[in-house]
Amino acid sequence: GSPTLSDDRDAHLRLDGLTKRYGDSVAVAALDLAVPKGELVALLGPSGCGKTTTLRMVAGLIKPTDGRIVVASQDITQVPTYRRDMGLVFQSYALFPHMTVAKNVAFGLEMRSLPKPEIERRVKEALAMVRLEALAERKPRELSGGQQQRVALARALVIRPSILLLDEPLSNLDAKLRDEMRNEIRDIQQSLGITAVFVTHDQVEALSMCDKVVVMRGGKLEQMGTPVEVYEHPATPFVASFVGRTNRLEGIAQGDGRVAIGSMAVQVPGRPGGKVEIMIRPHRMKLVDVGSGEDAASEGVNRLAGSLTRVTFVGDLLQYHVDVDGTEIVVEAASDHGRGFRKVGAPVAVLWRVEDTMVFGRGA
Ligand code: ATP
Repeated sequence: GSPTLSDDRDAHLRLDGLTKRYGDSVAVAALDLAVPKGELVALLGPSGCGKTTTLRMVAGLIKPTDGRIVVASQDITQVPTYRRDMGLVFQSYALFPHMTVAKNVAFGLEMRSLPKPEIERRVKEALAMVRLEALAERKPRELSGGQQQRVALARALVIRPSILLLDEPLSNLDAKLRDEMRNEIRDIQQSLGITAVFVTHDQVEALSMCDKVVVMRGGKLEQMGTPVEVYEHPATPFVASFVGRTNRLEGIAQGDGRVAIGSMAVQVPGRPGGKVEIMIRPHRMKLVDVGSGEDAASEGVNRLAGSLTRVTFVGDLLQYHVDVDGTEIVVEAASDHGRGFRKVGAPVAVLWRVEDTMVFGRGA
């Protein structure tokens, strides 16, 4: 057998310096990651950041250049895919078109030569889990996209894997179905208590479904944390702008908690110095008319003056675009039945609380 590793006993799945190189280019660069048992972890990042390559290495479909994959303290880096005890769900459902739903789900069990009654019982159970009992005798082409993805999920779960791997499983579905399936996958994952890794480039999906979010960039881990941690306390400007919308302003920190932005100055938390980038979420800002009763600077509140260049109505929200010294700032407000429109070109001010300001160094 494989050597037993004593460290990090809480981690069900652990990646240790996992690396994949293609010639001179590095798809995944020395990735370290620990996934606790029963957690759903999202690998989130822009196209090409190495999410899929990571997942495929965990599944055993791609051989790592370097590093280790450890499951329940066993090094499985050299273990072939079919012996890894992992369930896989892909973006393309990859169902067998000529087989019925039940046969598709039974396939993995038949490969494992389980007794027939056992297979029947488990297929039924898996189809019930994804609410497809009634469609067991249909062929994949007679199903909607969402139903096909549920078959794929049942097929992955029926083998009772110790780890579930999902690669963009919802990206072929329309928005409404995607919402439904998010909840469904999350419910099933929690009720089974199964450890799962979920690849997505969709931040809403990652934040809303997962226990932890791993933000990746250029093959590296940029930050790992709970959804609230990565959203409220992003470790880098990249995380701040990739997870949720954000405004960015460049300035020079004075070392006394003040940052000069052009001819204006704002307060920030802490005492940074040098060139900094400050970021504020659009919904944390408030737009006011210059000189109005609301336009009052106060302790702990920042104010920048600008001019309104555009108002966008997006149903539940109004987005105000404000030109502040040549930098575009977006302010979001509840639309309140469409009220709140202002005249473009008007002098306005944006207000926000000092504590809602994120500050990052810009290097030398
Ligand atoms: P996407 O969301 O677009 O699928 P991703 O984050 O999953 O992106 P990967 O598919 O893991 O990214 O790819 C990571 C990097 O490795 C990319 O730059 C990609 O071009 C490169 N890459 C992937 N597979 C190969 C390959 N077989 N040969 C050479 N380079 C590859």
